[in-house]
Amino acid sequence: MGWWDCPVCGNRLHVKLSENELAVRCVRCRASAVSESIIGVLVEQLPALDRYAALELSSRGVLAGWLRNRVASLQLSEWMPDHPLGAIIDGVRNEDVQRLTFANASFDLVTSTEVFEHVADDARGFSEVHRVLRPGGAFVFTVPLMDRPDTHERARLHEGRIEHVDTPEYHDDSFAGTDRVLCFRNYGLDIVDRLCAAGFERVRIVTPSISMLGHARRVLVARKTECMRDG
Ligand SMILES: [Zn+2]
Repeated sequence: MGWWDCPVCGNRLHVKLSENELAVRCVRCRASAVSESIIGVLVEQLPALDRYAALELSSRGVLAGWLRNRVASLQLSEWMPDHPLGAIIDGVRNEDVQRLTFANASFDLVTSTEVFEHVADDARGFSEVHRVLRPGGAFVFTVPLMDRPDTHERARLHEGRIEHVDTPEYHDDSFAGTDRVLCFRNYGLDIVDRLCAAGFERVRIVTPSISMLGHARRVLVARKTECMRDG
């Protein structure tokens, strides 16, 4: 058990069901340490959130629900490979982050949690997020992040087929239900360089102010702005 203010609902009591960021939860709203980490950072870093047009790269979960009441407009999306890109399926827009169907400069904020480790061509995905952001916009997201300099590639797409370069690692996916999704890589701190290579000019790795029983997730905050880099 642990006690801190949940940034989603204000409740203090949290439980740890296992040694995993997604298993540290607020007992009232069920937010995980990952959701609480990104929401806490959004509140701290983006004081003008209520004026933002936002894109969240999922359709369910605590972050999507929280954003709905906090931003000026919110677009939710999922990748549904059996449907045309840009189509609205049950109220959710079908988007592949490697080929977004939105016009340039459509959003002030793009968010995601635990998505990019599953994107085959993450460089293209980062470039697409940069493209749909307005100047001054922010890309705020989480991935599992190792404390080592280099990203470890586990798999890649080659001529349309997945090639494993290390033991396949699969993660649960809340949208796909019982399906499990391949983890293409374990990110290292060079994710900052990857974001800069995609055009982001100011990239920071933000550590949440609460430790969350040792399972706070560091949050990437990448800005589309004048040429400057820190973090
Ligand atoms: Zn809560």
